[in-house]
Amino acid sequence: MLSYRHSFHAGNHADVLKHTVQSLIIESLKEKDKPFLYLDTHAGAGRYQLSGEHAERTGEYLEGIARIWQRDDIPEELSAYMSVVNHFNRNENLRYYPGSPLIARQLLREDDKLHLTELHPSDFPLLRSEFQKDDRARVSRADGYQQLKAQLPPLSRRGLILMDPPYEMKTDYQDVVKGIQEGYKRFATGTYALWYPVVMRQQIKKMLRDLEATGIRRILQIELGVRPDSDQRGMTASGMIVINPPWKLEQQMNNVLPWLLKVLVPSGTGHTTVNWVVPE
Ligand code: SAM
Repeated sequence: MLSYRHSFHAGNHADVLKHTVQSLIIESLKEKDKPFLYLDTHAGAGRYQLSGEHAERTGEYLEGIARIWQRDDIPEELSAYMSVVNHFNRNENLRYYPGSPLIARQLLREDDKLHLTELHPSDFPLLRSEFQKDDRARVSRADGYQQLKAQLPPLSRRGLILMDPPYEMKTDYQDVVKGIQEGYKRFATGTYALWYPVVMRQQIKKMLRDLEATGIRRILQIELGVRPDSDQRGMTASGMIVINPPWKLEQQMNNVLPWLLKVLVPSGTGHTTVNWVVPE
């Protein structure tokens, strides 16, 4: 089942959190000269038109990136992320939102590598055309979970693995844990960043228990909620699970989350979390 299209959700509060964390990890990896691999298992289309039919229909970006865009008090922790958003919106109008592959493309260096996989028959060609002229990138129409076995460890022995499945199928909650286990067996020093939605809190609690049971250490949870947990349909919060986070990430998120909460959730119904699921 591949009915999920990220174009309906691009630039929402969950993307803002995910791409903030992604860009902070990339910037930390760049502090050493040695190149690294950026592996994006569920890459999406790459670029999203915010004035397009899909984004306009849901209007989710209006409560996400549109609330941050053009503020004059943007914290330092958002500067890499916002530099990419600005790159795609040079004429002062917010027209495009860069997905995770384009954020990586802008931030990575000449010798770093990108490996991107996407399965959707409409999104894959869009993604491939974005990277046609980029020698650093390999774009495949392939199963993202398989890449955790096939592409790891990277030659450079340094890397960020971003896992961002749509959770259309309940099995995704187990598949992400299995995928991380497979990847970690081959590449225990990599940084793994897994996005999750809070639709039913119990699913996330179980996923975290399953992750803990793998024996993997250094697991940091970062979450931004917009409404209290609920039994009704719909995402009330989203988060990132980061394994082997750069040492600064915990502090950076503690610095920036209060600002994001204030700006993205002016109603005051939200919450933030930075929590070690499993410490050192
Ligand atoms: N990471 C993107 C970003 O931040 O811009 C958004 C990705 S979107 C949430 C999830 C994507 O995963 C969808 O485009 C979907 O088609 C794709 N997908 C679903 N199952 C997949 C699989 N097994 N392997 C690779 N891609 C898959």
